[in-house]
Order: sequence, then structure tokens, then C-alpha cells
Amino acid sequence: MISVKSLNKWFGDNHVLRDVDMNVEESEVVVVIGASGSGKSTFLRCINRLEDYQKGEITINGRPHPTSEKRLNELRSKVGMVFQHFNLFPHMSVLSNVMEGPTQVRDMKKSRARELARHYLDKVGLSDKEEAYPEMLSGGQKQRVAIARALAMEPEAMLFDEPTSALDPELVGEVLATMKKLANDGMTMIVVTHEMGFAREVADTVHYMDQGKVVETATPERLFTAPTQERTQEFLSQIL
Ligand code: ADP
Ligand code: MG
Repeated sequence: MISVKSLNKWFGDNHVLRDVDMNVEESEVVVVIGASGSGKSTFLRCINRLEDYQKGEITINGRPHPTSEKRLNELRSKVGMVFQHFNLFPHMSVLSNVMEGPTQVRDMKKSRARELARHYLDKVGLSDKEEAYPEMLSGGQKQRVAIARALAMEPEAMLFDEPTSALDPELVGEVLATMKKLANDGMTMIVVTHEMGFAREVADTVHYMDQGKVVETATPERLFTAPTQERTQEFLSQIL
């Protein structure tokens, strides 16, 4: 479903992605771990082309990355992204936040977009908050709205970049539970996270990145209990 071949990216002289290869199957949940600065965010941003890259090939469902700006926007709407910070529109209700993409990007009629938004707000357990404004919500609720907003685009895959890192600890669980439900529904997902419990429980595959390279790829059991690479062992010994 997502295929990345020999991806290389530089920021000026800084070679931040070095021959990254990755294949993600339909309905697979992939977790990417690695130290800060190892290139995880840049990698995700290349996949939906929020970042340009100099070498390599990325295909989504067999379609290579397009070059025209219009087609790029289509691609971005097919690959949803959830960030550490939720970037909801503060002056719009929860329902309007979720309806925005379907009406503005997908040219959907308001009545249909409203139905869709309600459906996804229900999925993330926030049906009772549709009239609320973002400032009235907890961080966990805001992040669940951000997930509903991405889902309302009916993406083929979802990318999560440390979706729980900015949350108070007691709010992490509700967001992870929402993501787990999504995984169980068969969503194809790439998740950058430090939540090893989530990785163990939900991931099919874990990739460890260091200095722009995928150093080790394995099932969570194998990677966490018997990493073969010294760098992986070191990293895990620091965080586990
Ligand atoms: P991670 O998400 O693993 O912490 P990043 O992908 O954010 O890593 O960063 C990888 C490298 O790319 C770092 O050296 C970082 O300083 C650099 N980098 C990230 N974004 C930019 C940018 N917009 N301009 C220049 N350098 C960047
Ligand atoms: Mg990052």
C-alpha cells in the first residue's frame, strides 16, 4: 500500500534520510521509533509530500508521487496526518472543524459533510462535543477531534507523528485507545511514537531509525526482546 524505495533527503548539507526503504501492506500498523533528530518526522512528511526529497521513489497504492500541485493535494487528502500539536481552528466548533476538509477540499455538500463528521466524531467518542470549541476541550479530546478530522477525508492510510507527546500523561490512554480501534478497523497506519506499550500491543512491524537510516526492522516482540543491532540495543536500554 505504501512503498518507499531508497529515499534520500538533504536539508542543505544535512543528509537527513539515507536510503530509507519501507513497505507497508494494507491494514498494517507500522511503528517507527528512534532518537530525536533521527529523521522520523521528515520521513512521514515525505510520504505525503509535505516535504520534497532529492532521491528515491514513494508510491501510494501503486501510484507514484505526482508532480502537479493539484494532484499533490489529492494525495495529501488520501494520506491523513495527525501531528503532536492538534492545529484545530480555534474559532470553529468541533463539528465545523471536522466538516472543513470534506466541504473545502472534497467539495461535499454541507448536509453530507455534517453526516460524515458526526460519524467520525462518534468513532472517536466525541459525539457529545460537536458544539464545543477547541479551547473547551482537554488535550486528549482535541487530539481525538484531530483524528476525526483526518478520518473525515476518508484516507487510505494515516500517519501519526508523536500524537501523544504533548499530552498530560493521564490523557495519553484515550488517544492510544482511539488509534488502537482504528487499527482494529483495518486502517493502514504509520505511527511515530515513544509509547512502547502501544507498539507492543498494536504494531505489526517496528522500525528503529538512527541518523536517517532504518537500522532494524522486526516484529515488536523480536525488536523489544532480542534486537540484533547494537544501536537498537543501546536505544532500547535508554528508554525501556
Ligand atoms: P525526528 O522527528 O526524528 O526528531 P526530524 O525529522 O525532525 O527528526 O529531523 C531530522 C533532521 O532534519 C534533524 O537534523 C533536523 O534538525 C533536520 N530538520 C528537520 N526539519 C528541518 C527543516 N525544516 N529545515 C532544516 N533542517 C531540518
Ligand atoms: Mg519528530
